[in-house]
Amino acid sequence: MPPKNYRRCVSCGLISSKHDFIRVVRNFPSHHITINQGMGRSAYVCPRLECITIAQKKKRLGRTLRTTMPPEIYDQLKSRC
Ligand SMILES: [Zn+2]
Repeated sequence: MPPKNYRRCVSCGLISSKHDFIRVVRNFPSHHITINQGMGRSAYVCPRLECITIAQKKKRLGRTLRTTMPPEIYDQLKSRC
């Protein structure tokens, strides 16, 4: 097991400090998707266009968060690369 504050990118599988990733949150109880803020179920992705594209094409974030991702979230993620 990696140390407690380490996270894994949903796309490339890189394990690193959570500060190296963009955090995508499905908020509780609203189920609103937010980036780098909010509380609820979280998924992590590298701030790299490649990882965000894979996350979108393979629906990795939606699967991890057990929800349907709004397409504009991916635009917001890409703008953070
Ligand atoms: Zn990655």
